[in-house]
Order: sequence, then C-alpha cells, then structure tokens
Amino acid sequence: MKALYYDKGLRYLEDYPKPSPKAGESLVKIIISAICNTDKEILKGYRPDFKGILGHEFVGLVVESDEPSLIGRRVVGEINENCGHCIYCKTGRPTHCENRRVLGISGKNGTFAEYITMRNELLHIVPEDLPSEVAVFTEPLAAALEILEQVHIKPSTKVSIVGDGRLAYMIGQAVSLTGADLTIIGKQEEKLSLFKPFAKVTTKLDDTYEVVIDASGSPTGLLTAQKIVRKKGIIVIKSTYAGEIQIDMSDFVVNEVTIKGSRCGPFKPALQLLKLGLINFPPIELYELEDYEKAFSSRGFKVGFKF
Ligand SMILES: [Zn+2]
Ligand SMILES: [Zn+2]
Repeated sequence: MKALYYDKGLRYLEDYPKPSPKAGESLVKIIISAICNTDKEILKGYRPDFKGILGHEFVGLVVESDEPSLIGRRVVGEINENCGHCIYCKTGRPTHCENRRVLGISGKNGTFAEYITMRNELLHIVPEDLPSEVAVFTEPLAAALEILEQVHIKPSTKVSIVGDGRLAYMIGQAVSLTGADLTIIGKQEEKLSLFKPFAKVTTKLDDTYEVVIDASGSPTGLLTAQKIVRKKGIIVIKSTYAGEIQIDMSDFVVNEVTIKGSRCGPFKPALQLLKLGLINFPPIELYELEDYEKAFSSRGFKVGFKF
C-alpha cells in the first residue's frame, strides 16, 4: 500500500505491507487524513524515537472487523491505544496510560497510508449526513474541547487565546460557544481577520484575562501568557513543540497562577458539535499522498490527503 514513512526524514512508499487486523480490531481504509502541527513538529525532531507511518487525524471506512456493527461504516478514531491494566487505565485516565501507543506519534503506524488497523472501541461512527471533509476535524476539535473538560469557563469569564493558527481557531470556536468574552491575540492581522465572526482580535498585550490559553504552538506562548494572566488566574497550555524555554516560575508562585497542560479530548461531543453545524472551518485542502512535499509546505488553513 501507499504510505508516508518517517525515519528521521519522510519517505513516500508504494510497497508498504498492508496491515491485518487482530482480534478486537478493525481494518480501516483511509478516506481522508489531515496534517496536524504535531506532524510538522515530528519532522523537526519532536519525537526522535518514532519510526513509522505518520498521521493521526482521519476519516476512514471499516472494511474488515470482528464487530459486525462497524463493517461498511465511516469512522473516526481515538489516537491513544491504552493497555487497560496500568494505574492510569485503572483510575479513569486511559489517555495517560503508561504503556500507550499513539497513532502516528509513538509505537503505532499512523494514517498517512491506505489502510490502518485499530481497536474497535477506539472507533466512532460518523453520522450519515456529516461529510468526511468536516468529520476529519473531529480529533483536533476533541482536543480543543478538552479545555472545557478541565477548566470551568463561565459565560462571564474573560478569556484570551494566544495564537492565530489552526489550533487557536479550533479552540476559539469551542470557547465561543460558552458565550465568554473572548479575545484572540495574534501576530498577523490577515490571519486574525478569520476569527472576527466569533471573537475580538488584537496584536497587543494591553489587557489582562482570567483564563489565558496558549495555542501559539511556539515556546514563547507561555511567556506571553505569563504577561497577561490575572493574579489567581489560569493558564492552559496547548502548545507542544521541539525545544525548551526559560521562564521565571516565581512569578506564578507569587501571583498564585494555575498552569494546566491540556492534550486529547472527548470524541463524541466533537462529532455532535460538527453534526449540529455549531463549529465551522474553512474547507480542507486535499492532495494525493505522493504530493506530500506540496501538502506539507502549503499555507492552507487545513491540509490533508485524499485516498
Ligand atoms: Zn493532531
Ligand atoms: Zn494503561
């Protein structure tokens, strides 16, 4: 099968062996798979130990399964394959499983390929009337919704998001549904204009906020958040990147600031919001897998591969 294989660099292969499902797994034919910032960070060295097929955002068709209700259905899938018996699995934190394999990121081949295998319980059926081009946003939207699982953003909370890219856009849409006073802090006026239908936008750091969400995808995002978070406020960190920052932590101590890391979120509510049409995105830009260089260098809002 066709696949984009990562081993320090990316290689396009046409003869990668097609996987075969084990008991409790389905064979999924990929329909669309989208490029995420995490994929780009892996190319920059974020996961030096990972070797395999990249990609974790997808919509596919179940072609083989020992779960009859899944056969022939379009699905999206959760990216963390957990072990079921470690302390985190046993205490309701399966996405933090110590032995987890993460689709296209750690220990498991990803979705920039014609086929993947996945455990049945990690698959979610896509509603009939939801196009694959929209359903492919489920995983990143779920990750955005995780913030609302972790932090109580009330309609009266003053919130800002640092970042004007895709991740910020996804989170902005989700947070805007709470009715909160939301400001997007970015660098480029042109990118910020996209946010104007649902949030205030600014390039300045001249205000303070109860909750600041770092979705900049860059090491400087936390430094920016530190400048604008209110005393006793909350910083949610969504950015993952290759590299480190230097930061004066005593500021957080003195001002009693809460810092929350935030990663993967719930799929069912994400599918529900997409189905209801409450979250909207610019259309995904699709490429053939062999044109991966063009796809990775595109500046489109969301870029992916069609199979
Ligand atoms: Zn992703
Ligand atoms: Zn576990």
